[in-house]
Amino acid sequence: MSSTTTEREPLLAAFSNEPVSAFSTAAEKHAMEKALEAVRAQFGRDYDLLIAGRREKSADKLKSLNPSQPDQVVGIHSKGTAEQANEAVEAAFDYFPEWSATPVETRVGMLLRAAALIRERKLEFDAWLVYEAGKTWPEADGDVSEAIDFCEYYARQMLRMSKPDPLVQMPGERDEMVYLPLGVGVIIPPWNFPLAIMAGMTSAALVAGNTVVIKPSSDTPTIAAKFAEVLLQAGFPATSFSLLAGSGSVIGDVLVQHPKTRFIAFTGSRDVGLHINELAAKPQKGQVWIKRVVAEMGGKDAIVVDREADLDSAVKGVLWSAFGYQGQKCSACSRAIVDQAIYDEFLEKLKAGVSELTVGPSEQPGNYMGPVINAGAKRSILEYVEVGKKEGRLIAGGSAGAGDGYFIQPTVIADIDSKARIFQEEIFGPVLAVTKARDFDHAIELANDSEYGLTGAVFSKNPDKIRKAREQFFVGNLYINRKCTGAMVGAHPFGGFNMSGTDSKAGGPDYLLQFLQAKSIAERVV
Ligand code: NAP
Ligand code: MG
Repeated sequence: MSSTTTEREPLLAAFSNEPVSAFSTAAEKHAMEKALEAVRAQFGRDYDLLIAGRREKSADKLKSLNPSQPDQVVGIHSKGTAEQANEAVEAAFDYFPEWSATPVETRVGMLLRAAALIRERKLEFDAWLVYEAGKTWPEADGDVSEAIDFCEYYARQMLRMSKPDPLVQMPGERDEMVYLPLGVGVIIPPWNFPLAIMAGMTSAALVAGNTVVIKPSSDTPTIAAKFAEVLLQAGFPATSFSLLAGSGSVIGDVLVQHPKTRFIAFTGSRDVGLHINELAAKPQKGQVWIKRVVAEMGGKDAIVVDREADLDSAVKGVLWSAFGYQGQKCSACSRAIVDQAIYDEFLEKLKAGVSELTVGPSEQPGNYMGPVINAGAKRSILEYVEVGKKEGRLIAGGSAGAGDGYFIQPTVIADIDSKARIFQEEIFGPVLAVTKARDFDHAIELANDSEYGLTGAVFSKNPDKIRKAREQFFVGNLYINRKCTGAMVGAHPFGGFNMSGTDSKAGGPDYLLQFLQAKSIAERVV
């Protein structure tokens, strides 16, 4: 890790984002259909727990379902017990000294191989995401591309971190600073970017020299199992990680509280993030550090549409941000805040746009929207729709979609007050609240009226207003004259303010610092 390392560096081209598959040609479509077919042929398989290389089964199983057609079982997973969770942390702790001493270049090489392997299996991973997470083809491909980007990007960032900038040199001394890994990390991803976020948090922790225990979301454990295959094939030692499916509330608490757990990388809801933060803060018997918590949480993201905006492009930006992946992105627009001068015209155009959105099984490429993730989500989102109907005026949607899957129509509710529940609470589904603002200043004030602060966008042609938004719109990711979803690794480091989390800026140059600690060394030169 020191700047005097003599290991050979991998020869690396500059980072560039993975191109997404357009699925616009007959050949690409055909290849994707083949991939879907191949994945369907693997439905219902059993997956073991993976504890530092040991495959274990348990009697208690978790069934992962296809949300477009819930009678289809995508995979059956052994559920980890509290005892197995403890074993996984112990095993990771035992292997940490060896892994952390592995040359950076070796770990980087493994991560680059992992990226290459996902790239080779890209359509297969796309297909797993279509079936297990209910993503449409382009959304699935975006997720897989982002996973590749994270691996490629963090590999390069780790090489950079291994050679920190030189320090001021005291006379008669050699002064340097090196970055050391932390120890055992618990990785807890959500289901909504089940490959990208899991791969991003895991690969950052591993390449920095930490060992990890991954607790995948109970909705998307099969994608995690496929990623574990990639890690092993890429050369990551079987002892460097464990994959433990199982209930967050059962094994999650055990993993977080274990005295040998050094850090937790979590992405998910505000309530679970706060719970983890609280548990992690309490030192356990034998624990000799303050646990670090990286918690990226919810959002209630707003798009401000100014009277001086290009209205058509604003409507498109709101539509994509609100209804892409059924509104189930932490960056999704769930509040459109619109200047009164163009409010009615905006609503008219928005309504026309929504009427063109198609909803149905995500494996059929003609559908713009697929299902929401599970029965519980469908119930809770529809409850919010009912609340919203009382709080405002229904413009579009307002009920479930047709079919057995967890479909919900894209829903727009206008005239929403800032005190309304659907203005303040994260719904995490295809429900957009529209609020009228007196003017631009009022719109920014409304946008900031939230405990969250993840993404936001402003549509305006007025440079003074854009400047004001840059200064006063309090979000971790601000977009101007474009949609508020679709952050790209390297270009849009991602993470939010306030109750949206610790602002760790995934996919940015500072991200690896979360997984490292700096040691300063001053040597007297005689
Ligand atoms: P979630 O319900 O909070 O679950 C996230 C993860 O935490 C899952 O793996 C879950 O396991 C686990 N978990 C649950 N209880 C736990 C406990 N007591 N201890 C440890 N782990 C526990 O969130 P989600 O529904 O999967 O994801 C949607 C949420 O994620 C939304 O709020 C969204 O805004 C947020 N999100 C934020 C970002 C960001 O970058 N800020 C990105 C994506 C998503 P189980 O599945 O077994 O319950
Ligand atoms: Mg599922």
